[in-house]
Amino acid sequence: MRCYCVLHHGQPLELVDRPTPQPQGTEVLLRVQAAGVCHTDLHLWEGHYDMGGGKKLTLAERGIKPPLTLSHEIVGEVVAAGPLAPADRARVGRVALVHPWIGCGQCPACLRGEENICAKPQALGVARPGGFADYVIVPHPRYLIDIDGLDVAQAAPLACAGVTTYSALKKFGDRIVSDPVVIIGAGGLGLMAIEVLKALGGRGAIVVDLDPVKRDAALAAGALQVIDAKASDAVAQIQQATGGGARAVLDLVGATPTVTLAMGCAARGGHVVICGLMGGDLTVSLPVIPMRPLTLQGSYVGTLAELEELVALVKRTGMRAIPVTRRPMEQANAALQDLHHGRVVGRTVLVP
Ligand SMILES: [Zn+2]
Ligand SMILES: [Zn+2]
Repeated sequence: MRCYCVLHHGQPLELVDRPTPQPQGTEVLLRVQAAGVCHTDLHLWEGHYDMGGGKKLTLAERGIKPPLTLSHEIVGEVVAAGPLAPADRARVGRVALVHPWIGCGQCPACLRGEENICAKPQALGVARPGGFADYVIVPHPRYLIDIDGLDVAQAAPLACAGVTTYSALKKFGDRIVSDPVVIIGAGGLGLMAIEVLKALGGRGAIVVDLDPVKRDAALAAGALQVIDAKASDAVAQIQQATGGGARAVLDLVGATPTVTLAMGCAARGGHVVICGLMGGDLTVSLPVIPMRPLTLQGSYVGTLAELEELVALVKRTGMRAIPVTRRPMEQANAALQDLHHGRVVGRTVLVP
């Protein structure tokens, strides 16, 4: 089978011909029908995260080394199953979205159903081969979710952009109904967050981004208002738009300037959730945390149960898909480069 692999960090993906794997035990083999391109793929391709203060966390320190087959946003068709895979869930011809955020299955987090925060993650497209290939192995069919006729390229981003924003928005509780959510970053995740927020019956989104093209995309997706992150009075504009300060801020960028903006525009009692991994660091005056009082929370992708809830929500509400650009798998490199240079509106999804 063909795989588009990282053989050396920062170098173009290379086409590698490998034997098609045979599913063992409970595993299922899927023929890839759609594979989304995410910012995390860029970090994996570059080989490090920016931890701030000049420090970098290399993937090698996390036990992740080339060769890597990227993409964790996968829809595929079951073509074979191991002898221990439950036959009804692993039937050949089933087309399903894959939950990629797989853990060790044995630690306390995994036993709570929070495989996404397992200390020994086995995520597809990260620790295990992902979707930039003709075929992918999934360890158990319980990670497959029926998409029942949803378009495969539109369903694929639900596995990361979708569940990441769904899980983050859930952390705000009822605030999403009573108050607008300030969303920082109008890339694929930002547009997805606008759609998920609408499907959940939220009050609406005030979207902040540097790029006028992305702000226009946010307005087209139904944002209540958009604000230029570069404006010298961006904090004041957000405070005015939220009637005195934001009670819910979702930072999908996660860089020093965006988290600073998020904390600056938050109301007393405000709740800031950070999902983005652009990196950097922040010095915070500690009395600010109790005196304002602020909640600063991280959110990392989502659980299998949350992805199942999200797919059910999409089916129930007909939630609109984010703009998706389909490109042939052979253009994996160009698609990654376009994302790297900020040229992608919505999501790029590779198809066979
Ligand atoms: Zn675990
Ligand atoms: Zn992702």
